[in-house]
Amino acid sequence: MSLRITIDYDRCTGHGRCYTLAPELFDADDEGRPFLLDVESDDFPGQAWAAAENCPEGAITVSDNESARSSS
Ligand code: SF4
Repeated sequence: MSLRITIDYDRCTGHGRCYTLAPELFDADDEGRPFLLDVESDDFPGQAWAAAENCPEGAITVSDNESARSSS
């Protein structure tokens, strides 16, 4: 399995749930905009799915070979 995480910056409004719920995968810049850390996302699948499912704007998509989920 190889998880692929994307952030749709057109939808993101900077609530910060992603980097609160998934601190191993996301961090925020000085303006509170999230960005993906350079880590192996497969090591933190629970955080990846939690971020996608809890993003209020449906801005995060996580996909693997078999499925894709987001909060949209
Ligand atoms: S939880 Fe969603 S809307 Fe909030 S900062 Fe993260 S990507 Fe943006």
